[in-house]
Amino acid sequence: MSKSQSIPYKIYLSENELPRYWYNIRADMKEKPVPLLNPATLQPMTAEELSVVFCEDLVAQELNNDDRYIEIPEEIQNFYKMYRPSPLVRAYCLEQKLGTPAHIYYKFEGNNTSGSHKLNSAVAQAYYAKKQGLKGVTTETGAGQWGTALSMACSYFGLDCKVFMVKISYEQKIFRREVMRTYGATVTPSPSDQTKVGREMLERFPGTTGSLGCAISEAVEAAVTTPGYRYVLGSVLNQVLLHQSVIGLECKTALDKYRIRPDIIIGCTGGGSNFGGLIAPFVGEKLRGEADYRIIAVEPVSCPTFTRGRFVYDFCDTGMVCPLAKMYTLGSGFIPAPDHAGGLRYHGMSTTLSQLYHDGVIEARAVKQTSVFEAAEYFARVEGILPAPESSHAIRAAIDEAIKCRETGEAKTILFALSGTGYFDMTAYEKYHEGRLTDYIPTDEELERSFAGIPNVNL
Ligand SMILES: *Cc1c(COP(=O)(O)O)cnc(C)c1O
Repeated sequence: MSKSQSIPYKIYLSENELPRYWYNIRADMKEKPVPLLNPATLQPMTAEELSVVFCEDLVAQELNNDDRYIEIPEEIQNFYKMYRPSPLVRAYCLEQKLGTPAHIYYKFEGNNTSGSHKLNSAVAQAYYAKKQGLKGVTTETGAGQWGTALSMACSYFGLDCKVFMVKISYEQKIFRREVMRTYGATVTPSPSDQTKVGREMLERFPGTTGSLGCAISEAVEAAVTTPGYRYVLGSVLNQVLLHQSVIGLECKTALDKYRIRPDIIIGCTGGGSNFGGLIAPFVGEKLRGEADYRIIAVEPVSCPTFTRGRFVYDFCDTGMVCPLAKMYTLGSGFIPAPDHAGGLRYHGMSTTLSQLYHDGVIEARAVKQTSVFEAAEYFARVEGILPAPESSHAIRAAIDEAIKCRETGEAKTILFALSGTGYFDMTAYEKYHEGRLTDYIPTDEELERSFAGIPNVNL
């Protein structure tokens, strides 16, 4: 590309270039993700059974393995217009500082009040709940990002929002908690005495600080026992990956304008939604044999779901009330060390991404917490954005790939998702600055103990 056609620092899209359809990766997968199973009968969950827990339209999306494109309702498109397109930035400053011939691009999803990509799915889920005439929704939140996004979406559509927040986060992340309350959500520390699951946990483990798996069980129970309520989840599910495809679709349109083709695409993975959304249209091309990309999922060594987990049917929650999903998992009883990338501590992974990883379409790597914060700070100082610890896993891998290019002299094009900002994570940064962050790596024995809790339905 000649100088005169040089790429701007930010590639923007006009409103009429924004996606009007979500892209469904599953339509192009030869090996479809296998169905969720009813834990009682071990038969595939039917739409009817799922509708007890989830909104009807979302159930249809969850089970839809065939339609490549699903229209984004106009109300959702309009909400997206308030904060989208998200910036696609050419990281010239980072490239220069690294002295790499690589071309680095990042898609920044932290430019809305929730501070992350989670709003993309929250608004869709709240919209469908409202459309069904529901009174409200329940959910869980760990670090607080999903609860924040959902409370924003619910207040916009006039729905009640009940959030079960992992107790330790409820006590420590007061700012997140108060943002949720500002948007009208009810926030309950989990385990709580409001549900049967919660009461059991409190009795068995007095003084427990809670876990995401337990908060999920409580939120599901609250939804199915309260008339006019359904449960919503911010990651892992197929529907969430579908909604997040707006990230990748915007990237694709923007990059196509300048005929840029990424060689390497990188994202961090908790349950897989920002990564799944970013890679969606690119994976589609790869699956259809139209293009090839290296696609890398990055996870913490402390919660190594892809790199050390098993690809089996497992529970999605500790209370074992949710359907079984075939996914890479560390076992639903896995309690990760207190890592500071709160959003990446889930024991399982999106079934769609699990299948793609199993089939060799995507790769995965695990990185250490201290090296992640080193990358976060390096990035903050040159690109001016304070990244979320979760997102910084992707930064770590992008920087490592750019350094490899410096060594080989190859001018590869790297695209990564910068899933959010880190303003609410300053205690983690503080620990890093004081040299108090450790790199916990679970032992094989620990993982074996956790694998032992995987149900025996894997034929
Ligand atoms: C929740 C979160 C993640 C992890 O969730 P995914 O579903 O894997 O995307 C990553 N980054 C940020 C900023 C988050 O809030």
